[in-house]
Amino acid sequence: MLGQMMDQELLISNIIDHSARYHGDTEIVSVNTDGTKTRTNYAKVQARAKRLGSALLKRGMQRSDRIATIAWNNYRHLELYYGISGAGLVCHTVNPRLFPEQLIYILSHAEDKVVFFDATFIQLVDGVRAHVPDIKHWVLMEARNEELANQHDWIEFYEDLINEGDSEFNWPADIKERDASSLCYTSGTTGNPKGVLYSHRSTMLHAMMSATPDVMNFSARDCLLPVVPMFHVNAWGSPYAAALVGAKMVMPGPGLDGKSLATLFNDEKVTIAAGVPTIWAGLIQYLEANNVKLPHMQRTVIGGSACPPVMIDKFKDDYGVEVLHAWGMTEMSPLGSVNNLKNKQLDLPEDEKRTIRLNQGRPPFGMELAIFDNDLNQLPNDGETQGNLHCRGPWVLDEYFLAEKGSTLNQGWFDTGDVATLDSDGFMTIRDRSKDIIKSGGEWISTVELENIAVGHPEITSAAVIAAKHEKWDERPIVLAVKSEGSNISETDLLTYYDDKIAKWQIPDKVVFVDQLPLGATGKILKKELRSEYENILLG
Ligand code: ADP
Repeated sequence: MLGQMMDQELLISNIIDHSARYHGDTEIVSVNTDGTKTRTNYAKVQARAKRLGSALLKRGMQRSDRIATIAWNNYRHLELYYGISGAGLVCHTVNPRLFPEQLIYILSHAEDKVVFFDATFIQLVDGVRAHVPDIKHWVLMEARNEELANQHDWIEFYEDLINEGDSEFNWPADIKERDASSLCYTSGTTGNPKGVLYSHRSTMLHAMMSATPDVMNFSARDCLLPVVPMFHVNAWGSPYAAALVGAKMVMPGPGLDGKSLATLFNDEKVTIAAGVPTIWAGLIQYLEANNVKLPHMQRTVIGGSACPPVMIDKFKDDYGVEVLHAWGMTEMSPLGSVNNLKNKQLDLPEDEKRTIRLNQGRPPFGMELAIFDNDLNQLPNDGETQGNLHCRGPWVLDEYFLAEKGSTLNQGWFDTGDVATLDSDGFMTIRDRSKDIIKSGGEWISTVELENIAVGHPEITSAAVIAAKHEKWDERPIVLAVKSEGSNISETDLLTYYDDKIAKWQIPDKVVFVDQLPLGATGKILKKELRSEYENILLG
């Protein structure tokens, strides 16, 4: 032997052990389902996570058994993240906004053994229970409540499990870094949802990179509020990355409206947040209407769907908040790229820097991006050529959970289903999802670009562009737009607004004003639904 370094596994339990050891009194503030606040810290989260893990093992759970959660972002959910994975089990976060049939499908497919749920979801869970008879334990994430226990004899209580757990429990020593740690399902806009099974190692590497300055830039001086739910790709991995550096964390519970968030941001001096654009649109509306500022907030990570330039500008100019535009997906843990400038760009004129900051950014170490044509020929990174975006790296999916071996990758690359351009510096621009992009007379039109322009109009609060069938051109873009309160904007006004911003042939054929746009389980606009309603609108 040449003599090398210690051979330690990269385990999720290492993260909470570290934060308990060196950031034990750093606060975790949690808004409960009933609106009250609980203040805990990393030392307590670790101690209770251990008790919880030990209670699950006492109940007979075996290595890699799946344990489901149907819960908001709160401190017990955080304890479950660490307690379940730390004990060698798989933390399966389930999206409560799914339809009951999808919930039943997911719980059965994952073969979950236990379901932990928040009080909000008692009825939901009661409705699906009979369809998943193999699940033996349904645990309400609350202290014992005799009245509830009498009403529902099937409910067990979280705090009883904590009390059952062993305070001297040590994490099992034989867990390996390539063992499974957690499971998320894609929202399944096409076909059944598919499971993505993360390992301790993929989660750790993702967390370690996420915290670095050019990615999410977390530190022990930060206070993070993940608005993105813990059931949406593990809140983008932020509960791991924040604990890794010992950042204070604020868990917002169910109140994700503008007022609740603004109050929490200011009361808890939140410095960094993360969430999808639709959430931030609600926040900005509230801030503007009530003249509220965000004096402590420095940065916010926005991703999940394209962040409109007007939102990036507004955060910067009106609130002094830097937007970190990020792109990723469930299959990528999820981080694929984040927008941050390079040293050589720092002295560029302001408008050029602004333009660079609008796209989906660069991949960090550990992520490789490439674009291909339909025959899998790699295309140039010239910032102009569009292609099917593929990726590979240690936190990218190899195979869907329980899928047939070899059924997922293209020659070792994962096809993201997005169409993008890449430039020679690695900056990537999502043009569209391949199933959303508009094919008009053999040319492609990006719906993302047309939406960004529409929401740039001061009287439009949100917009979706979809392909409508067209006799001559096959498909043409139409805009579904929501007007701001009191606005009288007309179809012609909005179409004229496109005039000098885009080539004439790309200007949409029609505008339909709607009261609201349908949102899916993770806050993204459901274009499939819009297409089935409006795709024939241009046909005679
Ligand atoms: P689902 O596919 O079920 O919506 P994901 O949350 O994994 O679940 O979504 C991933 C997709 O979201 C990406 O493939 C991409 O199309 C879109 N997306 C994510 N972030 C961005 C972004 N910053 N800009 C544009 N699209 C994005």
